[in-house]
Amino acid sequence: MLDSIPTGLWINGEQQAASGERTFPVRNPANGEILAEVADAQPEDGIRALETAARTQAVWAATPARRRSDILRRAWELVIERSDDFAMLMTLEMGKPLAESYGEVNYGAEFLRWFAEEAVRINGRYTQSPSGAGRILVTKEPVGPTLAITPWNFPLAMGTRKIAPALAAGCTMVVKPAAETPLTMLLLGEVMCEAGLPEGVLSILPTTQAETLTSPLLDDDRLRKVTFTGSTGVGKLLLQRAAKHVLRTSMELGGNAPFIVFADADIDAAVEGALAAKMRNGGEACTAANRIYVDNVVKDDFTSKLTQHMQSLKVGRGDLAGTQVGPLITSRQRSTVAGLVDDAVTKGATIMTGGRHVAGQGYFYEPTVLADVPHTAKILREEVFGPVAAIIGFDGEAEGIAAANDTEYGLASYIYTESLDRALRVSSALESGMVGVNRGIISDVSAPFGGIKESGLGRESGAEGIEEYLETKYIAFR
Ligand code: NAD
Repeated sequence: MLDSIPTGLWINGEQQAASGERTFPVRNPANGEILAEVADAQPEDGIRALETAARTQAVWAATPARRRSDILRRAWELVIERSDDFAMLMTLEMGKPLAESYGEVNYGAEFLRWFAEEAVRINGRYTQSPSGAGRILVTKEPVGPTLAITPWNFPLAMGTRKIAPALAAGCTMVVKPAAETPLTMLLLGEVMCEAGLPEGVLSILPTTQAETLTSPLLDDDRLRKVTFTGSTGVGKLLLQRAAKHVLRTSMELGGNAPFIVFADADIDAAVEGALAAKMRNGGEACTAANRIYVDNVVKDDFTSKLTQHMQSLKVGRGDLAGTQVGPLITSRQRSTVAGLVDDAVTKGATIMTGGRHVAGQGYFYEPTVLADVPHTAKILREEVFGPVAAIIGFDGEAEGIAAANDTEYGLASYIYTESLDRALRVSSALESGMVGVNRGIISDVSAPFGGIKESGLGRESGAEGIEEYLETKYIAFR
């Protein structure tokens, strides 16, 4: 199957070699083996892609919305038709179990369908000045050529969540996928061509030189927007660069999600929710429950039940039947996870299960539960991005809320309670862009996804998603 997967740069509707014919290997994190050699885009390739995007922008913006919509809708159908290829590719290059890859294929494809539907509903408004002095027409126009930079943890969905609204709005786009997982995005490039996307609207440029490739694009005044999903550190750097030409920005950055279990929660449901919020994608998700706060009244019961579930998870290669937890993305990521566990234990946390590398090939780490994690532990400050559940006890609602908000991040939060009053009160007090109430999975194509504080700017998906790619213009009539 890998023989038929594109490995060149997508520029101008065709696959191209990178300047100097440079390539880099993409590896399978389950065994370290090379899956493919992929074109390694150089800065001059980036400029070529931006030139194409700038040249095509006006034509694409003037393409009837129905046509843009039909292309996106067709792309959704094609991704679904090729679910097996997409799912296997994601499992091979990213490591997640095949069942989760199929889940991402559906979720990632859904953005194409959703924004196909939004493309034909880009409305402005008409009103009159209260003084009677004038008439006011408000229109929406595409922002213009956009640069998208995506992470490795959801190789398809983090791309389509940007590509679909941009194309629907009439923007052209240059995408730089993560070097760890470029194959899924290159296959999407093929699908977009097959769906009828005109040449030059979308370019896809894998590279090992993220900063060297993207800096000249951010310095070029033909670019009008940068949309980024990744770590807060890189997001801050891009915001500084974006200041040069005052670019529009969308930033989906890191998280440090609290998962709060109150004394009145249904504990079995909370354990199930914690398992989903923690272990989806092996813990490598920005929405992952990073800090599990449990009221001391129910803490022992919750901890022992979560531990039992975590112990029973089957770790292994994502393409083998029955696997529930795959490898981490790189050996470096596994060392980071191990370092955070060791730090917590040194400072007084107790390992209930796990806490070790899995011997053998690949970057596997045991599903781990840490109890009584002290407030000084780094794991409560930094994203663990791995299969480690850190449990901390608290006394009463006020203490739970204060602990949850004690972070510079503000992406997702989760609460478990049987009280509607408390659910509403605590949701409003939590400093995060999204709150799950008695739910461990919150991502939804129809909902505005995004964070506050240092977790980001702007919202993706939902009715809000397309606004990120539209400018508002006010036209005054006498
Ligand atoms: P990362 O910031 O290291 O990399 C993300 C992307 O940025 C990659 O494509 C990378 O090549 C590129 N990049 C890195 N340095 C760059 C630079 N100097 N200039 C330009 N591009 C650069 O993050 P990652 O390790 O790939 O992904 C994990 C992070 O992403 C986590 O912090 C996670 O929380 C976050 N994330 C956020 C969301 C969200 O929606 N908020 C979703 C998924 C992941």
